[in-house]
Amino acid sequence: MRVGIYPGSFDPVTLGHIDMIKRACAMFDKVIVAVLINADKQACFSISERMRFLELALKEASINNVEIDSFNGLLADYAKRKNACAVVRGLRAVSDFDYEFQMALTNKRLNPDMETVFFTSQSEYMYLSSGTVKQVAALGGDITGFVPEIIKQDIINKSVNKN
Ligand code: ADP
Repeated sequence: MRVGIYPGSFDPVTLGHIDMIKRACAMFDKVIVAVLINADKQACFSISERMRFLELALKEASINNVEIDSFNGLLADYAKRKNACAVVRGLRAVSDFDYEFQMALTNKRLNPDMETVFFTSQSEYMYLSSGTVKQVAALGGDITGFVPEIIKQDIINKSVNKN
C-alpha cells in the first residue's frame, strides 16, 4: 500500500489544493492530508475548522482514498509513523522552489526512505493561495472559483468578521 502525505497549513483549503489532492490520489493508494499545527504561524482558521473544510470539500469532490489528519513536530517523523513513502508538495511560481527544495533536502536527510514528489500547479491555480483568498474575501471580493463552493460562505463570514 503506497501512502503519500500532503502536508500544509490549508488556512483555508483552496481549489489549488483540491486539484493537488485529486492528482495525488490517482498516484497513491492512500493520501493523508495533514494539517500542520504551527504555533509560530498566525492562522485565520482553527485546526478543527480547517479539517472540517477539507472534509466537506473532499466529500463534495467525491475523493475516497484520502484521510484528513493534523500533526505537529517533524514531518519526517510523522511520515515514518504513518508508513508513508512520499510527501506531496505543489509548485506554483518560481518563488515556491527555493523553500520547497530546502524542505525536500532536509526531509531526505532526516528520513532517507521518504521521497518528496512535486506537482506543478495548473495554470488556472498558479496565482492562487490561501492568503489571496483571505485578502479578497475580507475586502468583499468574489472568491468563486478560488475555493470549493461548499465552504465559500463560511470563509467569507470569518474573513469579513476578522477585519
Ligand atoms: P504551507 O504553509 O505548507 O505552504 P499551504 O497550505 O500554503 O501550506 O500549501 C500546502 C502545499 O500546497 C504547498 O506545497 C503549496 O506549494 C501547495 N499549494 C498551495 N496552493 C497551491 C496551488 N494553487 N496550486 C498548487 N499547489 C499549491
